[in-house]
Amino acid sequence: MSAHIIDGKAIAQKVLDEVRTAAAALAARGITPGLAVVLVGEDPASQVYVRNKVLRAGEVGIRSLERRLPADASEAEVLALIEALNRDKTVNGILVQLPLPAQIDENKVIQAIRPEKDVDGFHVANVGALQQGLPALTACTPLGCLRLLRETCGDLSGKHAVVVGRSNIVGKPMAALLLQAHCAVTVVHSRTPDAAGLCRLADIVVVAVGRPRMVDGSWLKPGAVVIDVGINRIDENGKSRLVGDVDFESAKEVASAITPVPGGVGPMTIACLMQNTVSATLAQIAAPASDNPSGGKPQTA
Ligand code: NDP
Repeated sequence: MSAHIIDGKAIAQKVLDEVRTAAAALAARGITPGLAVVLVGEDPASQVYVRNKVLRAGEVGIRSLERRLPADASEAEVLALIEALNRDKTVNGILVQLPLPAQIDENKVIQAIRPEKDVDGFHVANVGALQQGLPALTACTPLGCLRLLRETCGDLSGKHAVVVGRSNIVGKPMAALLLQAHCAVTVVHSRTPDAAGLCRLADIVVVAVGRPRMVDGSWLKPGAVVIDVGINRIDENGKSRLVGDVDFESAKEVASAITPVPGGVGPMTIACLMQNTVSATLAQIAAPASDNPSGGKPQTA
């Protein structure tokens, strides 16, 4: 069997088209969703990510503002910028590009973002709401994985899903989303004695470990659906290339469907960031923040 290759680019385009339609409907009401992207320092990879986010926002009708601070910026300076963006009525979403330089406490910065503008879904208020099944802004990568699974499998109810990895940005919110979708969910991590054996019981395997090609075909039940979140740059045959956490070649012979790297989860993350920005805008219109001098209202043109 050779698996169906899940086309993350095409599904991300579908999400972006939906966002463009929603943004156009807001524009017809004189409202432009605003996304602020904060970059501290000169990390080359972060600069590329920020550039891509700004470009994508423009394509779908979201106004983006880039706010840059130098690498030696103090924590107080970053917090002051966040506070200004919290109060800025033209800003509906705030994203802080991680990692931050060592002198800045990342968690403190994330928790300083107003939950209703936390389009990365990392604020404890959003994390807690997700756990309780309440409306929340949800981390973009797991949100994208869920969409890929729904597009591939339809109803997920009753499936057994194994999530490999328990990070705050991928593994844990992924498990919460799958539980909400009525899967039986198992989370495995570096202290799990037989992660491969548990994966072999799964209908769905989502892998986010940051270890090149760790999960191979021998970890999978025939017909499993595999979502590979990993992005690892390796040198192979004298060439630098990107590979996932799943050994694509062996896994595709066992799975019924699998995401490639690149072109699987990656494009979904940015598309879901745009989706979250529009969702945040709509929620702010519906329930303006009472203690926000802007009234939580998005920009009106
Ligand atoms: P983290 O390093 O934060 O977490 C890795 C997780 O993997 C940890 O929970 C760790 O367990 C677990 N783990 C490590 N080794 C093993 C092992 N041998 N067996 C089972 N579990 C193991 O990584 P992230 O979640 O942030 O990212 C994971 C990957 O996804 C990376 O490659 C990253 O680049 C990629 N990524 C891709 C994104 C995209 O848009 N496509 C977005 C975000 C991340 P423990 O907790 O016990 O240490």
